[in-house]
Amino acid sequence: MEKFSAPLLRKTALTADVYQFDFGWGEKPVDFKAGQFFMMEVVDEAGKVNRSYSVSSTPSYKEGFSLCVKLLPDGRGSKLLRDLPIGGTANFMAAFGHFVLVDSPKDMLMISTGTGLAPFISMVPAVFERGFAGKVTLIFGVRHEEDLFYVDQLREWEKAHANFKAIVTLSQPTDSWTGEKGRVTDHLGNFDPQAVQVYICGNGDMVKTVKTLMDEKGVPKLDIHLEQFTTL
Ligand SMILES: Cc1cc2nc3c(=O)[nH]c(=O)nc-3n(C[C@H](O)[C@H](O)[C@H](O)COP(=O)(O)OP(=O)(O)OC[C@H]3O[C@@H](n4cnc5c(N)ncnc54)[C@H](O)[C@@H]3O)c2cc1C
Repeated sequence: MEKFSAPLLRKTALTADVYQFDFGWGEKPVDFKAGQFFMMEVVDEAGKVNRSYSVSSTPSYKEGFSLCVKLLPDGRGSKLLRDLPIGGTANFMAAFGHFVLVDSPKDMLMISTGTGLAPFISMVPAVFERGFAGKVTLIFGVRHEEDLFYVDQLREWEKAHANFKAIVTLSQPTDSWTGEKGRVTDHLGNFDPQAVQVYICGNGDMVKTVKTLMDEKGVPKLDIHLEQFTTL
């Protein structure tokens, strides 16, 4: 585990409350695997806490790393990131987590809601870099159209890689939405439970629900990979 201080290079609004934060490496790049998370140190009047954020850039990107974060009102990590100026530094520890790609020829099913998409933005290019030949299906769900982000990136990957498909679904669409509707669980489709690696990331309830469905479908436990975001 390494501790380091990283300068903020760019802050990009992806929605009203989800931002991409691009950091440079401090003194030297830190090793991590696609899907892992970093912990950011927050020191404020209430004391010191750490907040976990999945890295949304690929390990092969050497200039720095990116985070995709939903800024919550009054959240302690959110406040630090919201107030951090370009050129200002944040302290991190890295890298953590077992939500990483396993070496398997099985097709991949990736399921995310909200900023749970973040680790997949790192993992999908890593899958392509490996020359993976199986099918990769990514399901991304949010409530409303204005909550969507990175959809152009997903569509570009679909065009560039015939084995990649993104299903973007809204649980509370307006009448003008012509895309997929419903929850991520409405779009799991038919698949051979013995022939798929399942990766699930997002809020705790969604992750538990999808995990239970996968258990019921008979996906072997070792082929189900989870990352649960907690907010408190
Ligand atoms: C492995 C992992 C990876 C993660 N990756 C990401 C990621 O990539 N992107 C991302 O956006 N998030 C991610 N998270 C979630 C992230 O770590 C934070 O939990 C989240 O961003 C909220 O942190 P915060 O400090 O801003 O808010 P907190 O300070 O934890 O507060 C959360 C909310 O609760 C409210 N609140 C605080 N205290 C109280 C109280 N006493 N009573 C009532 N309400 C209260 C706040 O107003 C706020 O709205 C990840 C979590 C884990 C575990």
